[in-house]
Amino acid sequence: MEEKIIIAIDGHSSCGKSTLAKDLAKELEYRHIDSGAMYRAITLYMLRNNVNITHEEEVKAALDSICLSFTTNEKTHRSEICLNGENVAHLIHDMIVADKVSDVAALKDVRHFAVKQQQDMGVDKGIVMDGRDIGTVVFPDAELKLFMTADMDVRAKRRFQEVYEKNPNITYEEVMANIQMRDYIDSNREESPLTQAADAVVLNNSHMTREEQLKTAMGWVHERVAKMAVS
Ligand code: C5P
Repeated sequence: MEEKIIIAIDGHSSCGKSTLAKDLAKELEYRHIDSGAMYRAITLYMLRNNVNITHEEEVKAALDSICLSFTTNEKTHRSEICLNGENVAHLIHDMIVADKVSDVAALKDVRHFAVKQQQDMGVDKGIVMDGRDIGTVVFPDAELKLFMTADMDVRAKRRFQEVYEKNPNITYEEVMANIQMRDYIDSNREESPLTQAADAVVLNNSHMTREEQLKTAMGWVHERVAKMAVS
């Protein structure tokens, strides 16, 4: 496929946005950026350094000391986040981070810091980015916008399986409560809340396999690119 586009994927917590984004990026030979990993790495920094996130100047000073980058894992070929040069991909899905990330991501300065870097990553197109505000704020002109969702119990079961492998002390109820809390904060914050872009295509993957969701999304990609070619 000649023409490179931007694919923006937004949606609720734990509905498989990163999985689809990764699969699409592989299929199209695009770059995949998990914007949630950026907010999680920033949160990890705040926690490690006891930053008082209700104090604007402290937050600003912390952001001045944060450098985020992505590296490709040679074994899995996955893109992984680095915080000041340290690969922190294995730490950012801990519940300690998950419990705080939505509060950190709701801060105006944090959003400006992350969004600027995300927009810079899209200048050459050929990118699939997933998050909460990608189609609405980061790339409002993205050629293809997907809004993903799935039934609450499906999402909780999927996330529970993932988290349980690393932390067998976790309960299903804790995981469910965390997802509900993040959805609530993400959808109700003042700065770029999670909303469906008017021109987004909805993908409910509650009853879809990974292969089925990729096939469906690839169908939309081909449609968009074909339309662009004739216009
Ligand atoms: O996608 P993931 O669940 O890893 O994101 C973690 C958190 O980061 C979300 O719950 C949300 O608070 C925040 N986030 C955001 N905007 C994005 C991506 C993630 O506010 N574009």
